[in-house]
Amino acid sequence: MFIFRTRKELKNYLSQERKRSKTIGLVPTMGALHEGHLSLIKRAKQETDITVCSIYVNPTQFNEQSDLEQYPKNESEDIRLLEQEQCTAVFIPTTTEVYEKGNMDLLSIDLEGVDKVLEGISRPGHFDGMVTVVHKLFKIVEPDRAYFGEKDYQQLLIVKKMAKKMGFKTEIVGCPIVREEDGLAMSSRNKRLNKEEREIAPLIGKVLKEVKEQVSQLTIDALKDKVTLEFEKDPRFKLDYFEIFSDNGNVMTLSEEGNKERSRAFIAVSLRNIRLIDNISLKS
Ligand code: AMP
Repeated sequence: MFIFRTRKELKNYLSQERKRSKTIGLVPTMGALHEGHLSLIKRAKQETDITVCSIYVNPTQFNEQSDLEQYPKNESEDIRLLEQEQCTAVFIPTTTEVYEKGNMDLLSIDLEGVDKVLEGISRPGHFDGMVTVVHKLFKIVEPDRAYFGEKDYQQLLIVKKMAKKMGFKTEIVGCPIVREEDGLAMSSRNKRLNKEEREIAPLIGKVLKEVKEQVSQLTIDALKDKVTLEFEKDPRFKLDYFEIFSDNGNVMTLSEEGNKERSRAFIAVSLRNIRLIDNISLKS
C-alpha cells in the first residue's frame, strides 16, 4: 500500500493512474479505524480500480477542544488494517498540507438548512468544518466515487449537496451502518468508553430498533416520550436529542404522523463526555 503524506505526492500518483484510465474511489476518515470504515473500503475496492483512504482529524470540524484532544489515534494499527484490506493508498496529511499557507478559511456554501437541524444545532460550526475538508480532499483526489457511512446521515446529505453545488462529477455513495453484535453502532469514539459504559451503550441501538418496531402503533410524541423515559432510567446517559426527520435525499424536514413510516429516527446521547450518534430508517 502506498502511504502519502503530501498532496503533491498523492496528486502525482493519481494523475499517472488516471492517464492509465483507472477509476478512483475515496474513503475519507478520521482514523482509529473499525469495521464500519473497512466496509467503505471494501465497497470502494469492489467499485473502483484505486482506493484511497484519507486519515485526517480535521480541527475545524470540532466544536469542542477537549473532544478534538481526546479523539482516538492509532496510525500504525490503521495502516495495518488498510494493508489487510488491500487498500491501494492511504493519505495521511498534516494540517499545513490540508490548509495550505495556514489558511483556515471555511468554505461558504448554502447547505439549504440540512446543516441547521440535529447535529447542526448541537455542534455549531461542525458541518462548516466538515464540508470544507471534504471539499479540499475532493479537489486533491478528484475521485470518481466517494464513500460515506449512513452512520453520519446528515453528513452524507451535506456532502451530496456540496458535490453538486461545487460541480464535482464524483458520485457520492452512502453505505449502511455497521453495528457490533449487541447493536451498538461502530464508532471510533466507542474506544473511549470504559467497561461499564461500553456495557450499557447498546441501549441506544436497542431503543432505535424498538422505535422502528412501534412506529405504526405510536404517535411521534408517544415515541419521543418513550425514548426520553428509557434514558432517564439511567442517570449515566444524557439524551441530547431524539427526532424523526424525513428526507428526499436533498432536504430534511421534521416528520408528521402521515409520513413517519417513511422517515428516519435520529438520536444523540452522551455517556460521561462521550457523545454517540445513531439513526435508523423507519421504513419496514
Ligand atoms: P469518521 O472517521 O468517524 O469521520 O468516519 C469516516 C467515515 O466512516 C464516515 O463516512 C462515516 O459515516 C463512516 N462510518 C463511521 N462509522 C460507521 C459505521 N458504524 N458504519 C458505517 N459507516 C461508518
